[in-house]
Amino acid sequence: MKRILPILVLLVLSMQVFAQQDAFERFQFHPDLNYDQDITSPQEFLGYELGAEYTFHHQVMDYFKQLDEESDKLSFHKYGTTYEGRDLYYAVISSEDNMGNIEAIRTANVELANNPESTSTEDKPVVVWMSYNVHGNEASSSESAMQTAYRLIAASGNETANWLQNSVVIIDPMINPDGRDRYVYWYKSSRANILNTDANDLEHDEIWPGGRTNHYWFDLNRDWVWLVHPESQGRIAAYQEWMPQVHMDFHEQGFNNNYFLMPGTTPRNRELPDAYEDWADTFGRGAGEEFDKAKLNYATRESFDFFYPGYGSSYPSVMGGIGMLAEQGGHSRGGRAVTTDDGYVLTLRQRVFDHYLNGVSIVKTAVENKEGLLDYFKNSVSQSSQKGNTRAYILKNNANDYTYQVVNMLRKHNVQIERATEDFNQRNSYSYWDGGSSTRSFEAGDFIIKTDQPKHLFVNTLFRKQLQIGDSVMYDMSTWSVPLAYNLDAAWTTNGVGVSTEMVSEDLVYPSGIDNNNAEYAYVIDWKQRHAPKALAELWDMGYNVRSAGRSFSYQGKTYTAGSLVVLVGRNYEKRDMIDNDMQKLSEEVNVVVEGFDTGRMDTGMDLASSDSEPVQKPKVALMIDSPFSSYTAGQLWFLFDQWTEFGIDRIRSGSFNRIDLAEYDVILMPGAWGGLNGVWSESQIEDLKSWVRNGGVLIGTEGSGSWLTKDRSGFTNVELFEAEDEDSTEIDDKAYTRYEDREDVFGLERIPGSAFKAIVDNSNPLAFGLPDRLYSLKFGDDGIIPNNSLHTVGYYVNEGEVLASGYASEENRENAKGKAFAAVHNMGSGKVVFLLDNTQYRMFWVGPSRMVQNAVMLLPGF
Ligand SMILES: [Zn+2]
Repeated sequence: MKRILPILVLLVLSMQVFAQQDAFERFQFHPDLNYDQDITSPQEFLGYELGAEYTFHHQVMDYFKQLDEESDKLSFHKYGTTYEGRDLYYAVISSEDNMGNIEAIRTANVELANNPESTSTEDKPVVVWMSYNVHGNEASSSESAMQTAYRLIAASGNETANWLQNSVVIIDPMINPDGRDRYVYWYKSSRANILNTDANDLEHDEIWPGGRTNHYWFDLNRDWVWLVHPESQGRIAAYQEWMPQVHMDFHEQGFNNNYFLMPGTTPRNRELPDAYEDWADTFGRGAGEEFDKAKLNYATRESFDFFYPGYGSSYPSVMGGIGMLAEQGGHSRGGRAVTTDDGYVLTLRQRVFDHYLNGVSIVKTAVENKEGLLDYFKNSVSQSSQKGNTRAYILKNNANDYTYQVVNMLRKHNVQIERATEDFNQRNSYSYWDGGSSTRSFEAGDFIIKTDQPKHLFVNTLFRKQLQIGDSVMYDMSTWSVPLAYNLDAAWTTNGVGVSTEMVSEDLVYPSGIDNNNAEYAYVIDWKQRHAPKALAELWDMGYNVRSAGRSFSYQGKTYTAGSLVVLVGRNYEKRDMIDNDMQKLSEEVNVVVEGFDTGRMDTGMDLASSDSEPVQKPKVALMIDSPFSSYTAGQLWFLFDQWTEFGIDRIRSGSFNRIDLAEYDVILMPGAWGGLNGVWSESQIEDLKSWVRNGGVLIGTEGSGSWLTKDRSGFTNVELFEAEDEDSTEIDDKAYTRYEDREDVFGLERIPGSAFKAIVDNSNPLAFGLPDRLYSLKFGDDGIIPNNSLHTVGYYVNEGEVLASGYASEENRENAKGKAFAAVHNMGSGKVVFLLDNTQYRMFWVGPSRMVQNAVMLLPGF
């Protein structure tokens, strides 16, 4: 045995190597075609065959720049720069004739998108856009982007010439360079000399946070609508300049899965024209024929859905085109080669080849169906395809909340927004809170988004209160209704809006300015302003002594919300010569309104120097990161402070917890953790944490970490989590007999997949200062806290009536949620434990409750 074993090992190893060599022989990129010798192939440029290695971002970009130099059929355009300084580009590919006239072609295509009724589709090329590597560790796709571009511009012959004459192909070779390079650097640093296809080996086991996400650990394939990140902002600006008829988003999935070809699962977004399905099917069948011939394994109608409009596979559809998805098996664990569960060696070479084959097939199918696709597009953006009877959505003009941010976001998608120039009453105005209709009064300045515009698919998809689908197990969240997500005061109406309006023709800017400069007594910044937390961070940086009003107050007819910042001149006496200038500067830089007061005596509420106004000092904050914490919610919390608040916090690895001196920190912030935190810290570390809280620390547990801090999960506090009652064990639930094939659907419906619950907020508690008294909490899972007298319940799901505002939740889950708390403060010694069971800034667009985290970190240590 002893001798045989090494031989067996050698045999297995050489089989792996053979498998990889075989892959290069088997998966050749159309070697039967003739290629223009003046155009450099990826292999010549890189010095290795595609699939032998991963290619860095800069090499991929350099290759496309080389093609731009060598060919008149390709031009390469910069559209943005990532957080880490990597440039983003897209390539435009077409025939030399078309490229000589490309600006006119582009303008004509945009004209079709904007004025479909009066624009003809005749003699237009079809615009096909292909996006690669939005998920950085799905790394085969950027490799195939190079070969696909090369194939299109270098291959001779009538077929390719016909394609280029009848299409404009846009290739975005790498949507997420920061994530991809993170993966590629990691992979190269982990790989062994000898090829290792065992999925358990280091080179197949990526480290936290992985390369999927961008610099701030955000999934860019959820950001196509919200445009939080520069990658999305730049891409959508470019997208809107082109408005393609066809879009394919290239991904990878687990390495045991075969290639996913369109179409996806049903149901889907019912706003879309009915023909969408058939077109997705046509593209899937086109690629399927090629895959059959090459003996490549694939599957269609798999579990991917196309609801959430922030995907690269859905956004193009609500922009009028055919949005599509491709998923190659491989992903982060694919390495250069990996052994699948049936013993097959899946190589990087094959992954590159499969995507290449699909990409070429997309162009072929698009050109073969050019007229039909242009007609579909023309119809989608026309009024004739509009569904439902909503005539307009109306947003109250609120300069404090997220309204301006939302208007600016919509403008980036070329949505037409009008502003009322006079007050008006609107019949059949429907409330997002309860769905009831009334005649509602609106004022001059309120924003009106009418649905009789080319972007109606997009507008309706974003603003409908409830998605038009039946009960269904969703791949992603089940609501994204904009007024709920941003907690805006809004309405929809089924009547036409007759008021006179003007177009919003430039981005809105949050108000700034200083009222009563040279104030004798104090400066005040109302805490309900969108950027008030950023102003506090800036005041701390400038060395100001700041108080936060513990109660609201009013002066000369104006009311200031609890939490408002008070800078007393007498308590910043050493700065008396510069304070007026500093406040001016602060106002302009941060976009807040600052108001000067010559007296401390207020009309109602508290006086400015009342003992109810608490000094708030700059806290030292630890954000826990690394496993088992979710990189997504960690990234959102980090982004909230690093970008939106410009307040620096420390990110501490869970494994380094024993190295830090807790006493140095005022606040510890714990992101979500799916399975709770059992086993992460030792008993003595948990005891240290408790003492730290009792000595005045503020411990914030969000999502699963919050649930873990309850009596039932860890005993850290005596706060109780609601558990659905165990049913009588002698009675058998009918569901126990659910057929195997139905189990996923039936039990999947018991989950809450990211739904909006109506919530009441106690905004007299410092945790909710600056918030309105109600909001929509985004609920995943069924955890809820049972309120009690010693606990400060700050946010809870409504007790009466319908608790679900939008999305899906079973009857039982809805009943159970009523009256339960998701936001609460538990006093422990002189410190506090803050529970935030629902995500407060999901993907940085469900941000209605986000002020709670800022308050917990910045204000609570002072209260
Ligand atoms: Zn992906």
